[in-house]
Amino acid sequence: MAHTISDVVARGMCVGCGGCAIRTGGAIPVRLDRYGMFQADLTAADPEQLEAADRVCPFSDSSPDEDQVSEAHYAELPTHPRIGRYRSVYAGRVVDDDRIVGSSSGGLTSWFLGELLDRSLVDGVIHVGKGEGSELFRYTVSRTSGDLLADRKSMYASTTLDEVVREVRGDGRTYAVVGVPCFITAVRHLEREDEVLRRQFTWHVGLVCGHLKSRFFAESLAWQAGVRPDELEGIDFRVKNPARRSYSYDYLARGRGGRARLRRTLSAIDGSWGYGAFQPGACNFCDDVFAETADVVFGDAWLPQYTEDWQGTNVLVTRAAEADRILGDGVRDGAIRLEPLTTDLAAQSQAGNFRHRRDGLRVRLADDLADGLSVPRKRVSPGYDGVSSQRIALIRQRRAMSELSFAAFLDARTSGRLSAYTAPMRAAIRRYRRIESEGKSLPTRAREALRSVLRRG
Ligand SMILES: Cc1cc2nc3c(=O)[nH]c(=O)nc-3n(C[C@H](O)[C@H](O)[C@H](O)COP(=O)(O)OP(=O)(O)OC[C@H]3O[C@@H](n4cnc5c(N)ncnc54)[C@H](O)[C@@H]3O)c2cc1C
Ligand code: SF4
Ligand code: SF4
Repeated sequence: MAHTISDVVARGMCVGCGGCAIRTGGAIPVRLDRYGMFQADLTAADPEQLEAADRVCPFSDSSPDEDQVSEAHYAELPTHPRIGRYRSVYAGRVVDDDRIVGSSSGGLTSWFLGELLDRSLVDGVIHVGKGEGSELFRYTVSRTSGDLLADRKSMYASTTLDEVVREVRGDGRTYAVVGVPCFITAVRHLEREDEVLRRQFTWHVGLVCGHLKSRFFAESLAWQAGVRPDELEGIDFRVKNPARRSYSYDYLARGRGGRARLRRTLSAIDGSWGYGAFQPGACNFCDDVFAETADVVFGDAWLPQYTEDWQGTNVLVTRAAEADRILGDGVRDGAIRLEPLTTDLAAQSQAGNFRHRRDGLRVRLADDLADGLSVPRKRVSPGYDGVSSQRIALIRQRRAMSELSFAAFLDARTSGRLSAYTAPMRAAIRRYRRIESEGKSLPTRAREALRSVLRRG
């Protein structure tokens, strides 16, 4: 049976991209739910609207997969099993030491977007920036490279394209859209259906993606630093620290009255992305790490030869020839530094993500099918072959921890006690670590026994 948009929403796999809302002119609203995630509400949509929305939802079987979309745009390029189609692969950064500190990584994303504007290749850039009032982040439009500088760094929070795309649609201007892979794919699906958007959206700039976070992530980090959720006014998720390697950054939470708290991210209970805290269900069913449908994609070069430099280094993959020309000019002008990277090294820079999105995805698909649940068609097949019992147990435990984080943090917010979240989460992390260490020390026969015991986590 095909997995439709109704299954996507019913199974908690909606990522809140807003594709369905845009396609139906708002007949399907996408709103922030009580878990801090934008979610589509299909209840008022008629069958025709549902069908139209189904064709643009990145998690529905009715929309083309990433291979089909990238082939439609970049059929001439070679393809790599993990990074998708590619023209060039680099590691690099902006040269200016002052400028790079204001970016998450090597600063090439905001530099590149600025070039698109300065060269009049687009009239505007649609990207996530700081929100107003209690809204921490939202999609916004920058029209100058100066505007772009105000909203740099990674915004690890649920946002939606709905409002901003409906605002600019038909205004006769061209745009670059920035987003995590599933958002870029949703935009590509919209363009296939809507000639107006196809003409307007001339650049698709992807961000490498491990997983998204609900608003709870910001609130939890801030609360652990002493700023309660109702006082939180803003958060900088990526403050660089010259005393450490680039992956060991800090975060800065800003509360009411200008109170600011700085803390090391890895010292927070949910600071390690490996625990999957506040990870939406959609990310459990995603197989795109390098935004395979984007014209160019930027991420962090998480490789030992680059993480030594606290200022940060990007990994990037180009697919549009024009992207290579812009980057080449930047190198010649002395604004940026680039060095070629092999496709395998680029993939290796996201090793944990690929474990989650390849073996992890196979196991989750197989588990859900065994439970009679609807799952989307993915580019990896369901199954357990070749996945160790320890890894299967870890995959299941991580999934359970994501679910636990949402329920426990909601409890904490309601009761006003942070420990309602941290206590169960700590216990779950202990169990995760136990599985890790037990699996390592067990002989093969014992591992097989553990596999059956841990069958359902
Ligand atoms: C949810 C999420 C998960 C990520 N996971 C990984 C990962 O696992 N591995 C990895 O290597 N990299 C990941 N990244 C990308 C990484 O965090 C950096 O954003 C990237 O390396 C670009 O750094 P930079 O210094 O070039 O960007 P900057 O110069 O700081 O510019 C960043 C640009 O991206 C825009 N932006 C930030 N967040 C969003 C967003 N959510 N949606 C749309 N636009 C946005 C900003 O507005 C700005 O224009 C993730 C990013 C996000 C948002
Ligand atoms: S994932 Fe996007 S398109 Fe699909 S239901 Fe959610 S908001 Fe709509
Ligand atoms: S992991 Fe996949 S589904 Fe989740 S936000 Fe990233 S691209 Fe979207």
